[in-house]
Amino acid sequence: MHTSEVLLWFIVLPYFILYALAVALPPYLLEWDFFEQFKISKDAWPWKDEREAVRRKFWKLMRRSLVIDTMNILILAPFYVYVKGILLPSRTMSFSVDSWPTYMKSFSDIIVSIVLHEFIFYWSHRLMHTYPVLYKHHKVHHEYKQNNILAAHHFNSIDYLFSVAGPVLTSVVVQPHGMTQIQIGLWILTANLDDHLGYAFPWSPVRWFPL
Ligand SMILES: [Zn+2]
Repeated sequence: MHTSEVLLWFIVLPYFILYALAVALPPYLLEWDFFEQFKISKDAWPWKDEREAVRRKFWKLMRRSLVIDTMNILILAPFYVYVKGILLPSRTMSFSVDSWPTYMKSFSDIIVSIVLHEFIFYWSHRLMHTYPVLYKHHKVHHEYKQNNILAAHHFNSIDYLFSVAGPVLTSVVVQPHGMTQIQIGLWILTANLDDHLGYAFPWSPVRWFPL
């Protein structure tokens, strides 16, 4: 297995928890006008909805989501990393200090990887919505009518494979240094969490680039 991907896997859960507590929960709980001006949907959050049935449905989905997210992060993600290590054993990403990349090489690998990842993600997501045989798996991800942080890892297992396949294919093509791969992985993790936050905060670095 690739050291960088194993390290990344160890980061996913603590990073998710930290992001949820530090970035997502304050605006969800405080609902200050300062935060609310950046809320993407102008509808009330389902946990604040005046209809009891909507609130009850949300809490039920949230409990299921906690199980799905935890299973995906703790079991499926390492399983896919392991399978990748078996299927692509020769494609090792070096972690060697001898092959430490220059700033320029690291920067160009990051840009190429992220553009490629966006391209793969766009098409895989589009296919997921086009073919009913794929959408029946992907529709789980759209169970939330409004995005919130728990939707970031709320995927059916087949769909989760597609969502992690993009970064995997990218690393096979670009072959970045292990340290660069960690930076790319952290960026993709952050972008995924930010995309599902429900707010478009202009101070988020994810919002500073056209892609
Ligand atoms: Zn979708």
